[in-house]
Amino acid sequence: MFKKILVANRGEIACRVFSTARRMGIRTVAIHSDVDAEAVHVKMADEAVSIGGKTAAESYLIIDKVVDACRQSGADAVHPGYGFLSENAEFSERLAKEGITFIGPSASAILCMGDKITSKKLSAEAGVNTVPGFMGIIKDAEECVKISADIGYPVMIKASAGGGGKGMRIAWNDAEALEGFERSRSEAKSSFGDDRIFVEKFITQPRHIEIQVMADSHGNCIYLGERECSIQRRNQKVVEEAPSPFLDEATRQAMGDQAVALARAVDYVSAGTVEFIVDSQKQFYFLEMNTRLQVEHPVTELITGVDLVEQMIRVAAGEKLGMTQGDVKLTGWAIESRLYAEDPKRNFLPSIGRLGRYRPPQTLSTAEHVVRNDTGVEEGGEISMYYDPMIAKLCTWSTTREAAIDDMSRALDQFDLMGVGNNLQFLSSIMKHPRFRAGDLSTAFIDEEYPDGFHDTDPPAETMALFAVAATVITERSQRAAVSGHGAAVLRGRQDAATRDVVAIIGQSQTRLTVRSTADGIVLQDESGKETSVSTDWTPGQTIATIQIDDKEHDFKLYPRVAALGLEHGGYLIKAQVLSPRKAELAALMPIKAPADLSKFLLCPMPGLVTTLMVNVGDSVEPGQPLAMVEAMKMENVLQAEKAGIVSRIPVFEGDSLMVDDIIMEFEA
Ligand code: ADP
Ligand code: ADP
Ligand code: MG
Repeated sequence: MFKKILVANRGEIACRVFSTARRMGIRTVAIHSDVDAEAVHVKMADEAVSIGGKTAAESYLIIDKVVDACRQSGADAVHPGYGFLSENAEFSERLAKEGITFIGPSASAILCMGDKITSKKLSAEAGVNTVPGFMGIIKDAEECVKISADIGYPVMIKASAGGGGKGMRIAWNDAEALEGFERSRSEAKSSFGDDRIFVEKFITQPRHIEIQVMADSHGNCIYLGERECSIQRRNQKVVEEAPSPFLDEATRQAMGDQAVALARAVDYVSAGTVEFIVDSQKQFYFLEMNTRLQVEHPVTELITGVDLVEQMIRVAAGEKLGMTQGDVKLTGWAIESRLYAEDPKRNFLPSIGRLGRYRPPQTLSTAEHVVRNDTGVEEGGEISMYYDPMIAKLCTWSTTREAAIDDMSRALDQFDLMGVGNNLQFLSSIMKHPRFRAGDLSTAFIDEEYPDGFHDTDPPAETMALFAVAATVITERSQRAAVSGHGAAVLRGRQDAATRDVVAIIGQSQTRLTVRSTADGIVLQDESGKETSVSTDWTPGQTIATIQIDDKEHDFKLYPRVAALGLEHGGYLIKAQVLSPRKAELAALMPIKAPADLSKFLLCPMPGLVTTLMVNVGDSVEPGQPLAMVEAMKMENVLQAEKAGIVSRIPVFEGDSLMVDDIIMEFEA
């Protein structure tokens, strides 16, 4: 067995590998860029080697630096994690030359599978179903249009070297094929340094279902069930689960058999994932094989009880697989939510900044519930623009899908995070979504269910009632704390005995409640006379309130608002005021302030670089017209005009780095 494993990666996946290595009694080595000198993965490892640089291209992607770090630390094996050099055949060959073991497949398997065009040809030969399309390199936009029309719209234009959902566009007609080719090619070039593009049929109403395979160097290869990853935005996974609510045992087995056949065809060793796109008739087609540990591997670990990193390490050390196909049993249900530093209310644009508060929910592991949080950040840490914007992977497991979703919903409500824009509220909203709960998924789920993006909406009546109760209890406890804070114990005693009427105002809704204090909490009576007993340990200053309402506990996040209380729960964010009936009457008479008119500006929606300005001062623009291109987190974002107008001012230049809400241009009507 290895003595020392170096992880050629950062963030949560480096930490993930370290924890298994440590359990196996293997020493651990971290590498880090200048930006990551204080990162969690560095603190967690037994040793750390600085490789300098800021961007990935200056640090984690430089093979020489990683090899030097291995020499310096005396590591005898390298785990590459995912991303970075994990699917780089040259890296694995270089390590072999240095006598260091690469914990992953052979260079030839990486080469065959790392390229989408090559792997598609290979899988067709191995008898695996592939998406119909053109299996060659497209030379220019005209050819792309011609081939797309031949295949028949809609088509998917893809970068052969693509990954992470980048360099990929759907086209529904010639114009989109033309535009999509250029965009995909330029994104592929900047992200992967490789601009080869191909086209295949876009499978409509598709589900993304993938098979985990695991193989050793003794000819054993098994599959560990599937993961459904259909909840995606921009072709990147957001929520994953295992098993899939869609598969029957026969389809699972057919997919598993094809995945194993493909792995065998390239003499695959280590953990790998064969991704399929599955249509509404349960026809499945090969998408790509990821020759590495997958981001969403924890859901498989939770339903199989297998530590995939441990198996990867053992297999790399020459051991036989610790199990046979017959040993693989899928138990219960697991969900993963990817917590990203991105703002769902601004079209999922990336956010950066310091994690002023980072307090994940309590992790736990019992016979009926597991809460696991894979992360590589800590409170006070920084989410920078240099690397992937993923903050954490929150997973829950329970005996049924419904229970796992309920657990996830609570865990998200308990996740206390501030300082960086994030998608927690959006993830909560998905967990409460009836279509998600019904398991009626497709990769278009987010686009279909949130067509104008994710925005705050009024909660349904049942949730509104919970908010009214929570707001009332929190207001009561705040006022009581304020009173007792002045030492007026006598006064508090008198107040406890009283009942009084309050009105909880949330948006347009007003709930009249009678409040009565009891020994262990309060009882609220609504206008119909229905009583609800409520208790909580919440005290002012705490940012999460766990409130027992009748027999069930609910969690609410608190945000201070001017003369009001901001509360978030179950994917809804509301502003509440709890007033006496007289004050409520007066409040209803207050004029509503109109928000400032920002429509005459084009504001930068995220921190990023202005790469192209597409109009000049004096130009008339039409709604939808592209105005500027901003690059952030390796994505090119085209900013379009929201309405017609004339450009009156452009205070920025191409090449400028902008912050959120910086003015890019101004219009006159
Ligand atoms: P998965 O299917 O496991 O989500 P992806 O292909 O989406 O795998 O990529 C895994 C991770 O690696 C993602 O976080 C993605 O952003 C990152 N990634 C993939 N390819 C690259 C790349 N070439 N450069 C930087 N990050 C990448
Ligand atoms: P990446 O390497 O970026 O992960 P994939 O080829 O795995 O690229 O595709 C990512 C996602 O894009 C898939 O999960 C799926 O949602 C969508 N997708 C890719 N190809 C197709 C297709 N031919 N038809 C429909 N959706 C597709
Ligand atoms: Mg993929």
